[in-house]
Amino acid sequence: MKKTGVITKTVLQYSTNLPDETIGELKKIALDYNKVRNYVYSRYSGINSLNKLIPGYTVLNEMRYCGLRQQLNLPVVYYELAIFDALRDIKSMWSNLKNRIAALVKQNENLTQDDRIYLFTVLNYPSVFNAIVLRKEYEMPKNTVGLQLDVKRLNNLLCRYVRKYKQISKVDKKCVFAVSPNGYKYYGKGLIGFVGRIPRKRIMVELKDNDVHTRQLRVFVEEDHIKIYAPVDVEVKQHTDYINTVYLHIGFGNMLTSSDGNVYGKDFNKLVNTETDRLRIKNIERYKSYKAYSAAVENNSKAKSSRIKANNLGKKKYFLQKKNKYAKMTTFINSEINRMLKEEKPCTVVIAKAVAPKKADNTMSKYSREKLNRSFGGYIRKRLTQKCAENGVAIIEVSPKDISSICSSCGKSGKKQNSFFICGSCGTKTDKYINAALNIKNKYLSKENI
Ligand SMILES: [Zn+2]
Repeated sequence: MKKTGVITKTVLQYSTNLPDETIGELKKIALDYNKVRNYVYSRYSGINSLNKLIPGYTVLNEMRYCGLRQQLNLPVVYYELAIFDALRDIKSMWSNLKNRIAALVKQNENLTQDDRIYLFTVLNYPSVFNAIVLRKEYEMPKNTVGLQLDVKRLNNLLCRYVRKYKQISKVDKKCVFAVSPNGYKYYGKGLIGFVGRIPRKRIMVELKDNDVHTRQLRVFVEEDHIKIYAPVDVEVKQHTDYINTVYLHIGFGNMLTSSDGNVYGKDFNKLVNTETDRLRIKNIERYKSYKAYSAAVENNSKAKSSRIKANNLGKKKYFLQKKNKYAKMTTFINSEINRMLKEEKPCTVVIAKAVAPKKADNTMSKYSREKLNRSFGGYIRKRLTQKCAENGVAIIEVSPKDISSICSSCGKSGKKQNSFFICGSCGTKTDKYINAALNIKNKYLSKENI
């Protein structure tokens, strides 16, 4: 089960506080980078571009001669990466769509087993899928020969699903761009120069550390500094004493609970909720200030309005506080995962797959508390996966079905009361998270539902 070799890890590098001029230049690059991505989305997200996406050189060629680069005066190193960035997003949009359609096919009660085999096959053959969506001729895949099918009806259904559920990628407003090794250079220690718009004049940035990176970087441009995400190869750590199989439940009350009852990240939700409440109160205050500000503007009370604006509506401090709290929580998550690895000494960690968020449940999305919890859930999984990889620990996922609703002793369904799971059939009363972790263990050991 032990993994050996090298894995990729992302490390962060910060600049010192930079002059406005430098920030301005880098921001403009990020802005234009996003413009290129948006252009690619609008031009190549459609059905008619399906055949151009792989391997993507057609798109690259067309983009080279469309005039956008010259119009933006964006250096090639950024321009072409922006195109590949956008293409990657479009491809993942299509693959998400195919997954979604596969789920719909599974649920659709009007389909026979043969219909399903045909549709699943088509979803797995890009050339056939593309031909159907583009209404072109194609050869029937071999394993669909002999099935009882109304091909025309099924193809129409597929096209209808595509039209109905296809989404369009959009650039988020983050000020970020990628740069390949030929677009930057480290000058001695603690100094990096990015290719700029003026030939032979680099945008020089002073860094807080002396690390030198060699791969493609992602550069986040903040108000007065930048942060650089750099992939580095690290040797997988070898722990000869890591020999246990550990079953972990990921929860929001306690972050990680093992089937033996060990808890890592105790009362995680309290930490998150305190923060969310604080931000919510802050938001209400800001809203009130904004109202007062608008009223003052309406009444032409200039002195008052500018006073409110300066004292109560400053974004900088607010975002800084938000960021600091976020950093505090991610530090907590990471150190608790480290502690788990040290104490449990696992060679294998077994967890349940993430449950997809419920769509119909509107009451949940109302509360930022839930949203924040969910976003941290994803972060915990990501970090756990990464840290396990770095330490040569295998991660195995079992199906999350029923893990928190059935009794780990007898398998009957029970109920949750506060932090307990209570089974009416056999009388078991356990911590609900331990019960879930034990169910993960049972599933793994029975090798069912994996
Ligand atoms: Zn029971």
